[in-house]
Amino acid sequence: MIEGLEELRLQALGCRACKLCQTRTNVVFGTGNPHAQVMLIGEGPGETEDLQGEPFVGRGGKFLDKMLAHVDLSREKNIYIANMVKCRPPQNRDPEKDEVAACIGYLYRQIGLIKPKIIVCLGRVAACALIDPSFKVTKQHGQFFEKNGILMMGTMHPAALLRNPMYKPAALDDLVKLREKMDQLGLA
Ligand code: SF4
Repeated sequence: MIEGLEELRLQALGCRACKLCQTRTNVVFGTGNPHAQVMLIGEGPGETEDLQGEPFVGRGGKFLDKMLAHVDLSREKNIYIANMVKCRPPQNRDPEKDEVAACIGYLYRQIGLIKPKIIVCLGRVAACALIDPSFKVTKQHGQFFEKNGILMMGTMHPAALLRNPMYKPAALDDLVKLREKMDQLGLA
């Protein structure tokens, strides 16, 4: 375990800094290998994630795991997955500005402790918050941008891929690009 990460997790578990604490079942802090050099970041937990306290464990998450396995990536081995907000927005709506403002510090501290070389933003909300507010996922997915010494890529959210299967090949291609970049940089 990385020093400080467990303390941060415990702090998040007791957090009541925004209104999402009133409707959550569990705080969904993050999961995976804390020594990973790649982090995947989504916008917020959905219903299954809220019930289980783990990110990306519903239908979309299972589909994500399958796609990751295709390029030899898994949360057990070489990635860490977290969300921008740690508690579920009701009815899976986008997190609101004040909720993101209250919560994003946890994510920044996770990034600071895990120190990934590459961050992949899953979906528009995360890509707009972390890469560029005008990020267009359908146009700019799969491209790498460097920010504060970290390579960042945006791709489609797995739940969106289940709704729009026509984007699945492009999303898989993005993960192939990620794998190629990792190999190029000598990342495990
Ligand atoms: S969403 Fe984040 S800031 Fe809001 S209560 Fe949950 S952990 Fe705290």
